[in-house]
Amino acid sequence: MSSALIETAEKAGKPLRRHRLDRPELLAPAGSLEKLKFAVHYGADAVYIGGQKYGLRSNADNFSFDEMREGVAFAARYGAKVFVATNIYAHQEDLAGIAEYLKQLESVGIAAIIAADPAIVEIAMREAPGLEVHLSTQQSTMNWQAVQFWKEEGLPRVVLARETSMEEIREMKSRVDIELEVFIHGAMCSSVSGRCVLSNHFTDRDSNRGGCCQSCRWKYDLHVDAASAAGAGDNPFTMGSKDLCMIQHIPDLIDAGVDSFKIEGRMKSIHYVASVVNAYRQAIDAYMADPEGYTLRPEWVGEIGKAANRPLNTGFFYSTPGAGEHIYEPEEKPAPYDFAAVVTDYDAAAGIATLQQRSPFRPGMEVEFIGPGGRSFNQSVGEMTDEHGESLEVARHPLQTIRIRTERPVFPLDIMRKKML
Ligand code: SF4
Repeated sequence: MSSALIETAEKAGKPLRRHRLDRPELLAPAGSLEKLKFAVHYGADAVYIGGQKYGLRSNADNFSFDEMREGVAFAARYGAKVFVATNIYAHQEDLAGIAEYLKQLESVGIAAIIAADPAIVEIAMREAPGLEVHLSTQQSTMNWQAVQFWKEEGLPRVVLARETSMEEIREMKSRVDIELEVFIHGAMCSSVSGRCVLSNHFTDRDSNRGGCCQSCRWKYDLHVDAASAAGAGDNPFTMGSKDLCMIQHIPDLIDAGVDSFKIEGRMKSIHYVASVVNAYRQAIDAYMADPEGYTLRPEWVGEIGKAANRPLNTGFFYSTPGAGEHIYEPEEKPAPYDFAAVVTDYDAAAGIATLQQRSPFRPGMEVEFIGPGGRSFNQSVGEMTDEHGESLEVARHPLQTIRIRTERPVFPLDIMRKKML
């Protein structure tokens, strides 16, 4: 049963451990060092990031090795881990320098890579044995025999295809001793994940080498034939899918044995990552603490709604999405809240918070402060001063230092968001 890759791992002294975590891991996206810090602070057990090469988000604010080192050190203070996506399907030329790159990841303290191409899997296990190799969702793994195959290749974890059902997950878990990572929240591909080349055709950007430009969400005109197109007005439609949201089904996922709950979205904002992580953290912890007494709290669902503005569904977990799960009409709905500022300091004696501006706000505006664990309160912005104590009518400059009185204590990395709707 042992493959060459297992032998490589054994030679490197890599432990072949049992694959069931004590509690499910909440795994969050981090498109930048700052997002990594927010994700971890708001409750992620692990984050996945992109390096300068070999990932599928070539437009994200990808990490340098120095940023990775800083991110790993920050995460370690919370007991969290950092994974790096190296999940391209590599052309021959892409493999030049990969061994050196993987060794560098190992040396800066990255816990695991997420890989799809067997060449990258094999090179990582041979050249950087301190890195775990997690099989990327790009491999479209949807049956237990495939999971067994990758276990026999020596991999400790498989990231399942988004198209896998809850029933299939249960069967995998009952048959194969391996960690399963599952997407629980975020964007879905309207084609089978990892099998779409729309972007390649429309823009010459390779979706399997990090270039997807989300062509499925563009606005198209639909005409039956050339005759109906002639003189027809705009009839826009998109090919996008509703986003995945499993906040209402945490008990099912945990009971099925899912080891890692993955949130999609390395391109998403700090506000989105913090809010979504915050909601899932609370739901997972509540269920783990008291499965019998668990109830879904409306504020968790509400928190998701404050961060996202696209329609949501449960993807492929309970049935194959039908026509109702497709987004036909382009949606221009604005987000209900916008990230206004981050708390950098708080003077408890004076009740004054120091904020760093992220989008304009002014006195009289309704805002909400949020922090890890579901802490939140609403208030109106009162008098504002700048760092020199000068009164301000509007906080209009990015990263400007602002001081305001808050109605309750706040803490560094708390978020102030303003109501938009
Ligand atoms: S174009 Fe859409 S369906 Fe295709 S890979 Fe990109 S996000 Fe997925």
